[in-house]
Amino acid sequence: MAVPDDFSAQLALLRSHYIGQLDGVLSAMENQVAESGTEIATGTLAALGAQLHKLAGSGGTFGFPLLSQAARKLEIVTDDWLAHPEHIDVSAWLAWKADLLGLRQTLRPPVEEKAAPSARRLSPPASRSHHAPIRLVLIEDDIELGEQLSRGLGQFGYEVSHYPGFAPAQNELLSNPPDMLLVDIVLSGQIPAAGNEGAAQLFTQLGYRLPTLFMSALTDFSAQMAAAQAGGGAFLQKPVDVPSLAEKIERLLQNPEEIPYRVLIVDDDEVLAEHYRLALAAAGMIAAKVCNPAQVLAAMDHLNPDLVLLDLYMPGYSGAELARAIRYGEKWQGLPIVFLSAEDDLDRQTTALTSGADDFLTKPISDVRLVAAVRVRAARARTIDELMSRDSLTGLLKHASIKDRMAQEADRARRQGKPLSVVMVDIDHFKRVNDTWGHPMGDQVIKTLAHLLRQRLRRQDSIGRYGGEEFVAVLPECSSADAKRLLDDIRRRFAEIRFMHGDRSFNVALSAGIATTADYPAPSDLLAAADAALYVAKQNGRNQVRLAPQP
Ligand code: GH3
Ligand code: MG
Ligand code: MG
Repeated sequence: MAVPDDFSAQLALLRSHYIGQLDGVLSAMENQVAESGTEIATGTLAALGAQLHKLAGSGGTFGFPLLSQAARKLEIVTDDWLAHPEHIDVSAWLAWKADLLGLRQTLRPPVEEKAAPSARRLSPPASRSHHAPIRLVLIEDDIELGEQLSRGLGQFGYEVSHYPGFAPAQNELLSNPPDMLLVDIVLSGQIPAAGNEGAAQLFTQLGYRLPTLFMSALTDFSAQMAAAQAGGGAFLQKPVDVPSLAEKIERLLQNPEEIPYRVLIVDDDEVLAEHYRLALAAAGMIAAKVCNPAQVLAAMDHLNPDLVLLDLYMPGYSGAELARAIRYGEKWQGLPIVFLSAEDDLDRQTTALTSGADDFLTKPISDVRLVAAVRVRAARARTIDELMSRDSLTGLLKHASIKDRMAQEADRARRQGKPLSVVMVDIDHFKRVNDTWGHPMGDQVIKTLAHLLRQRLRRQDSIGRYGGEEFVAVLPECSSADAKRLLDDIRRRFAEIRFMHGDRSFNVALSAGIATTADYPAPSDLLAAADAALYVAKQNGRNQVRLAPQP
């Protein structure tokens, strides 16, 4: 996928704008130097220093790396002179002047940024419609097994097309690529690689690689290697049970960038800030720029960024001070703050970092590097955030986090005047599952229900593991009648899932209670009412969904 046309067009426009004003900027500097003869006023020198700093930071980004280097050299001398005027002597001054007048010669034709192998990653991740079911193509020559897996995955809400080999699947794969490919690694008794060659050929034809999960009855290392070499994202040993298969599929499809990263760019150089903004936007991120540092805190509250890129030197403010001010906010303690500056002096970088920023990127920076650097840091911050708020067995929100979420959503529901439903789910006779089939099997049941809930709920819904085998779901803009329909469907599907234990199988049921803000506006009442409804469901024989009565 290419960078969307409007972004490349805007970037090109911005670059021509930059080049257009460059001539004027250089002429003004040249005139100032020419007028100063053998002496220079401190004010003029400071103004030239600021201009050099800007050029050093922006030149490379717009295709003039030599301009950046030359301006940077001049800036270092200028800074020294401003701090120690006694260092200025005639010969140094003449050399400096010649170098400044030579800046124009660094403007060779702009170098097009070489598309690095990772340039494809610049494009936004393909987005899936939120409500469309996830489509899988299963290639399995054992017809009966294929049908059985298709049915099982269907219970988890996946839409599966099953084919006995690559050839019959080709049409669908090419004309309407699924979200994911499941492949049996040994097709019709052929050598393991045969399945992969077919896949490899198809991948090339598709022009991109589909997430692929390989399955094999072969237990040796070579099967796993074959899968890895074909680029498989996951490998499952046969026999595969449907819950673990569903779990692997979900993990493979989980795209950490599905919710785009939000990045705030703070730079007084408006053209450069706009360039960064476009480069990040072209990579699928939501980026906003602030050129007046006084507006940073307001912009932070508005954007709620995953990461802040901060220029180090701005008129009136230093990036280090801004970073410290940002960290005063409790909410921004874990936020990655990255300095982006032409400062390449290691000591000064280190000093700046002690103010509470996390990292330093040196200008000029290419778009590919900027995007990669932002992506890596934002992803890590999100991972840490997730690990802290999520339960390790199910990946769902922990008790405290789901309660927070419910309070926030209840607040929002009240403001917007829309109903919010809260559901409490509890597995029936779960003690028996543990007692009969063992604790690890019980864990498997909990995980399976977590997956099913995630599958069936919408993007804006939140799910938490409230206790051992208790779950809470928060459903914004959902009436209790809609919530009841949804939960009844989940209840039926869950009860149909056959858990395998050796050659024996068993089923498990769940009960649920639902309350809505239409009846219980206070968050504390809401959860208590859902819990009371769950109790009624249990009392009435379990395997059912109950609505809290209107008070
Ligand atoms: P009911 O239908 O009334 O809900 O009966 P129940 O047996 O499901 O309810 P109860 O609350 O008495 O038992 C829940 C059991 O869940 C007790 C506890 O040992 C078990 N449990 C809690 N957390 C976990 C877990 O993480 N893994 C496993 N395997 N079991 C857990
Ligand atoms: Mg229970
Ligand atoms: Mg319980």
